[in-house]
Amino acid sequence: MPDHSNLFVSHHPAVLHKLALLRAEATEPKKFRELVREISWLVGYEALADARVDEISVRTPMEETVGHELAERIGLVPILRAGLGMVDAFLELFPTAQVWHLGLFRDERTLRPVEYYNKLPDHSTVDTCLILDPMLATGGSATAAIEVLKDWGATRIKLVNLIASPEGVAAVSAAHPDVAIYCASVDRQLNEKGYILPGLGDAGDRQFGTGRP
Ligand code: URA
Repeated sequence: MPDHSNLFVSHHPAVLHKLALLRAEATEPKKFRELVREISWLVGYEALADARVDEISVRTPMEETVGHELAERIGLVPILRAGLGMVDAFLELFPTAQVWHLGLFRDERTLRPVEYYNKLPDHSTVDTCLILDPMLATGGSATAAIEVLKDWGATRIKLVNLIASPEGVAAVSAAHPDVAIYCASVDRQLNEKGYILPGLGDAGDRQFGTGRP
């Protein structure tokens, strides 16, 4: 894996432990959703480490003191449908965030992303956009989402994944070197169908119980 200065991979023991459970074929959708949420929380904690805060005054039962409140306008952009499972964790971390859904599906023949849902208003309403998608595979959807957000006027964009492929990281870094990528693992490779190996299979199907029996 070449060095990408825009790539941040969490090696926290809690992430490693949960990631193994997430990958396991035997993990059923309910547990899988819990793990997506928990790992999103841990990766999101890192991704939001440089968020801007303002000083505020807080009255404790003892005295007046200085506290802080989140000051940045954050836009969460889950990629439908697999990104939905990451939203709650980010809203717990950053309750004032706006959520803007983007629907992109992958044309299985061309492996290219096709946009089918986008209700972004005319002008950007946030300072920082976090794109949420559990899997960074070919990088096609991520690159398309970044282009949509840049056209919208977003100036600061971060991509948050659970598992990335080296090919996806390389594609996003080449097209958008200004976009930081946060994830829990960079796996070995893509297969010929654009699935990540060893990966976890289809992150949407595994969350929503829609995989073939
Ligand atoms: N999307 C998934 O859900 N899984 C992969 O391995 C690649 C893309």
